Amino acid sequence: MSILVVGSVAFDTIETPHGKRERCQGGAATHFAIAASFFTDVRVIGVVGDDFGPKQEEAFKKRNIDISGIEHIPGEKCFHWAGSYEGALNEAKTLQTDLNVFADFSPKVPSNYQDSDFLFLANIDPVLQKRVMDAMPDVKMVAGDTMNYWIADHRDNLLKMLAGLDTLIINDGEARMLSGEHNLVKAAKKVIEMGPKSLVIKHGEYGATAFFCERSFPGTKNTTVPFRAPALPLEEVVDPTGAGDSFAGGFYGYLAAQKEITPRAFRTALFYGGVMGSFAVEKFGIERLRDATREEIEERFRLFREISHLDLDAE
Ligand code: AMP
Repeated sequence: MSILVVGSVAFDTIETPHGKRERCQGGAATHFAIAASFFTDVRVIGVVGDDFGPKQEEAFKKRNIDISGIEHIPGEKCFHWAGSYEGALNEAKTLQTDLNVFADFSPKVPSNYQDSDFLFLANIDPVLQKRVMDAMPDVKMVAGDTMNYWIADHRDNLLKMLAGLDTLIINDGEARMLSGEHNLVKAAKKVIEMGPKSLVIKHGEYGATAFFCERSFPGTKNTTVPFRAPALPLEEVVDPTGAGDSFAGGFYGYLAAQKEITPRAFRTALFYGGVMGSFAVEKFGIERLRDATREEIEERFRLFREISHLDLDAE
């Protein structure tokens, strides 16, 4: 089944302990779409400028991603984000944000995208997220992301968007900020009361936890217990940019490819999210994710099963 994603299509200038790269192809919708494309059909809504050329298009085309919904604004430049990471590489420090074409972004759903089955609202203004959500009332599932800026300064708009979500996918700092609770279980309960039927909290290099409620899987018993999936212990993390969006792409892409969204499928999807996140961080920008293969993905999934299998007698 097809996924429609709306979000940033950008250039990123990134500094990590492994070096600096100017203007790598990036953006939340880019990372998400590439990760999800290994599982299902993906369509993108975004906006770009003249600096988005054949080379950038190629990264999408290679993965069969439909970019007919990406609007080109002549004479303008793409959204540009500059950030740096230090130490544990868990949190990006934003050095610069050039909105460029993003400043007046008003997403439109083209007619050839209307039959999309799943919707992912990547991190953009919650007013725009809500607008796209309202334009797609018949989708099977809506998932979304947000960030500290919207939580801090656009709370009312964010709450309106959250009320319509099936699943919210955010990191632990964002969950704490949104709920005002430090303890993540308490935070999750509060966030779920805001509307989402389920919540996935990402813990960077430590994996992700899914929280459920009675509304998550109607008619299914015993699904309110949280579920934790680890992250793969990696020897070298080169660039964490886009790991969260790649996680979301793997998670949602796997779900969208299933016949039914069961608790089992949801839990399995968390592992595929972790697999795609692990590729994203191994090289700068989209370099590694773009070149992953389905075989490599399954190989890492097997590794995930191995490290999470509770066999206390294993040698
Ligand atoms: P993450 O998965 O959280 O590391 O997301 C990284 C991506 O988010 C980068 O490729 C950036 O281009 C993009 N990004 C950073 N700031 C914003 C913003 N304010 N709005 C939309 N996208 C952003």
